[in-house]
Amino acid sequence: MNMPITDREQFKESGALSVETVTSVQQWNEELFTLKMTRPPAFRFRSGEFIMIGLPQENGKPLLRAYSVASPAYDEELEFLSIIVQDGPLTSRLQHIKPGDPIYLGKKPTGTLVTDALLPGKRLFMLSTGTGLAPFMSLARDPDVYEMFEEVIVVHSVRRVVDLAYRELLESKLEGDPLLEDDQRERLIYVPTVTRESFRTQGRIQTLIEDGRLFEQSKGPQRFVPDEDRVMLCGSMAMIKDHAADLEKRGFEEGANNKPGQFVIERAFVG
Ligand SMILES: Cc1cc2nc3c(=O)[nH]c(=O)nc-3n(C[C@H](O)[C@H](O)[C@H](O)COP(=O)(O)OP(=O)(O)OC[C@H]3O[C@@H](n4cnc5c(N)ncnc54)[C@H](O)[C@@H]3O)c2cc1C
Repeated sequence: MNMPITDREQFKESGALSVETVTSVQQWNEELFTLKMTRPPAFRFRSGEFIMIGLPQENGKPLLRAYSVASPAYDEELEFLSIIVQDGPLTSRLQHIKPGDPIYLGKKPTGTLVTDALLPGKRLFMLSTGTGLAPFMSLARDPDVYEMFEEVIVVHSVRRVVDLAYRELLESKLEGDPLLEDDQRERLIYVPTVTRESFRTQGRIQTLIEDGRLFEQSKGPQRFVPDEDRVMLCGSMAMIKDHAADLEKRGFEEGANNKPGQFVIERAFVG
């Protein structure tokens, strides 16, 4: 039987983990929710990075999983977008978490979906499937990103319309955001696409690239231009592999923290 989450005594602070408190939970559908938690004052990360979060187990060892931070680096709280895998060791329990409950937070954020790993450019395309949107919610709400790029384009591909987490917020160009100026919000472009139901934009991201729908709302070229465009990819292994190969064919080079390039990738999950 699973332990109740609320038992704070089961949680142990350590050099690698702090114990935080959940502040809000928003359910998007039966397999997707957003979780906010307190942020330790000394916790620093770069928008787009991921961190371990988790719960204690009966054997006393913490059960941890990698999660992209969905809130920007300046936010006072930390926000995460989570899948629910019914037989998943962590999310079968995490789906029941409530405000006030304790939760483990790792102390070492890391990742490649950061602007440091990209060369300067004019447009930033962030291509995601499923929970791969999470790091891009962090970057799209970071004012620094709008200092670096003229247009910030968030592309989210999902199977069903109800899987479009954050849809209203993105459609409103992040209305009411406490950090972004109006001029910055106007430069955010949102391209949601649904693959298995009818919706105003249907089809896989690759199809939108090929038929030009990905670029329709942009004031720039109606295709990828390696000199000006920068691309971040976050999704399944197959999605990343296909897009990385396509970008390389178009003359884009992959970047890393120690060698900035024209595109960067990260898996949204292992499997
Ligand atoms: C770098 C990195 C960043 C990640 N960021 C996030 C994030 O922001 N949000 C998030 O929900 N998960 C994220 N994950 C996945 C996360 O670490 C866990 O796998 C997930 O929370 C499920 O945990 P679990 O213990 O319940 O099941 P697991 O045993 O970890 O997973 C069971 C199976 O479920 C499937 N699965 C797991 N995660 C997902 C997912 N996100 N979308 C679709 N299928 C999935 C896989 O097929 C996997 O084999 C990330 C993983 C990596 C490597």
